[in-house]
Amino acid sequence: LTTGALIAQMLVEPVNLILRWYDELQIAEVSLARLVGVRDIEPGAGDPDVAPDGRHVHAEQVRFGYREGVDVLRQVSLEVAPGTRLALVGPSGAGKSTLGRLLAGIYAPRDGRITLGGAELSRMPAEGVRSHVALVNQEHHVFVGSLRDNLRLARTHAEDAELWAALGAVDADSWARALDDGLDTEVGSGGLALTPAQAQQIALARLVLADPHTLVLDEATSLLDPRAARHLERSLARVLDDRTVVAIAHRLHTAHDADVIAVVENGRISELGSHDQLVAADGAYAALWRSWHG
Ligand code: ADP
Ligand code: MG
Repeated sequence: LTTGALIAQMLVEPVNLILRWYDELQIAEVSLARLVGVRDIEPGAGDPDVAPDGRHVHAEQVRFGYREGVDVLRQVSLEVAPGTRLALVGPSGAGKSTLGRLLAGIYAPRDGRITLGGAELSRMPAEGVRSHVALVNQEHHVFVGSLRDNLRLARTHAEDAELWAALGAVDADSWARALDDGLDTEVGSGGLALTPAQAQQIALARLVLADPHTLVLDEATSLLDPRAARHLERSLARVLDDRTVVAIAHRLHTAHDADVIAVVENGRISELGSHDQLVAADGAYAALWRSWHG
């Protein structure tokens, strides 16, 4: 079985559900790919020789729009060195989530290119992309099936002990251990109703299981209260220590703690630098920082 076929088989039920939620098949496919951090590409399109250090992220003159003729990103170039943290900040609608999806290989640029460790993302085999980069956002965290099924989406053959370790890494083990049926608990529509925060923890546990070199976090802890979010970010930072992280920042500390901050405005990167550099430059980031700081 190809990865794509396997995932399709595991997700027949959820796919039907998604199809009921959305009229556009295209959106369903994208959501599915996003869930497991896989970009499904046509068989044979991947270059089997591509086995780079996936931690070095490079975008070169990227142009992208969801529809041809309506550009959402223009001339976006940036580089994230292995093991460093990039924070994307900027006004709502500027293109941050879109850039996150491109960096995670969910969509391919219309012009320009995105490389991971020197290899072009859109040319890598899907399996390779999955091990290199994953995206966590707020969408579609829990699917119909057992808790075990939901976690194994990230790693098909993971043992229960590994699943518990992943739940522990995201502080979800205490409530999960209290479930009568443990990992066999049915979740999703018709099953146990998880809170949004619990669902988000499931998505983060999948991330720990997938263990990619590069992570894209888009409001990944936003459903948790600020204290829980901070705590979770710290435990994730330990687990995902030497990874390259692109975090879309909605809180002051996410940007402040990053190695590099990119300000996205109107589909372009308008400022790029460290917190101190951008505060000194006294531009858009400095203004944002002042407003966040109260
Ligand atoms: P941000 O994350 O900075 O708020 P987004 O990347 O979500 O910005 O959105 C950038 C632009 O792209 C907006 O104009 C938004 O309406 C549009 N957009 C976002 N997602 C989609 C989509 N799936 N299909 C079509 N347009 C979209
Ligand atoms: Mg967004």
